[in-house]
Amino acid sequence: MFRIRFHGRGGQGMKTASRILGTAFFRAGYQVQDAPRYGAERRGAPIFAYVRADRAAINERGIITNPDLVVVADDTLVGMPAAGVTLGLGKHAVLLINSLESAATWRQRLNTEARVLVLATPEEVEDRASLPYIGSRCAAAAAALTGVVSREILLDALSEELGHLPPEVVRKNLEIAQTVYDGMAAQAGTVTPGAIPSALDYDRPEWIDLPFENAAISNLAIHAGATSVEVRTGLWRTMRPVINYGKCSGCAWICSTYCPDGAISVRADGHPEIDYDHCKGCLICVAQCPPHAIESIPENVARERESEATA
Ligand code: SF4
Ligand code: SF4
Repeated sequence: MFRIRFHGRGGQGMKTASRILGTAFFRAGYQVQDAPRYGAERRGAPIFAYVRADRAAINERGIITNPDLVVVADDTLVGMPAAGVTLGLGKHAVLLINSLESAATWRQRLNTEARVLVLATPEEVEDRASLPYIGSRCAAAAAALTGVVSREILLDALSEELGHLPPEVVRKNLEIAQTVYDGMAAQAGTVTPGAIPSALDYDRPEWIDLPFENAAISNLAIHAGATSVEVRTGLWRTMRPVINYGKCSGCAWICSTYCPDGAISVRADGHPEIDYDHCKGCLICVAQCPPHAIESIPENVARERESEATA
């Protein structure tokens, strides 16, 4: 069975990539599961989607923890533990990263036994949440690496899944998918199906006694209040809002009221302050500020400026 995971950010089209690949496998005569996994979160948040494909009925369910192929649309997710990119990455697996850096660099960084390949990013973009055509590129690369999905089947699946879009958009996606597929031709068959774990290898757990506990302590899942502050959702940000205090009129309530995450507080001097640990970069404050005193800059540029300032 082929087990393939796509990792990206909300808005990058990983759900679509899994649909395209799933449909392609189906057209090639495989039984298929494809499903995305994400929460009620916004554009830019880490998400993943997965595909299982087999000639026989698929009885396995749930997320894939032993992948044959992991495709990463955005290399800024690789080092983010919450994104779970490296989950179950063994020596049988292939890790394909969309990156301007080399496969050797990633292999050294991750110290992984998995085979690492790079899907060269055509160019750096300002907002990582909008990588153009990345869903089709990732689906095409995955299809080529399996060696069992022909180019014609891939393109038919892509036309089927993107058929609701304007013809020019579909044409461009087809063109890009074809180029990526052909570019991966030398690696066809690199990804091979992993074995299905046998039930005979299953170790029955030891018998466990669960003693009754006092209901007042046994039913609590959250043991203290105000713990959500510990979740640093600011890690998801691809664009950073920055206040220009020279332009800020101190109207105060507009940006702080509109911020859906309560990440803008008002200082004692009447000016706003952004909590970057919890600002997810939705940029609503940028759109709402009347004197345009908040600008948005790519997160990597903001980090470079910070390190220059502290150097
Ligand atoms: S909305 Fe704009 S002008 Fe008003 S407090 Fe916020 S940054 Fe300043
Ligand atoms: S971008 Fe602005 S509105 Fe959005 S979470 Fe950050 S501070 Fe709040």
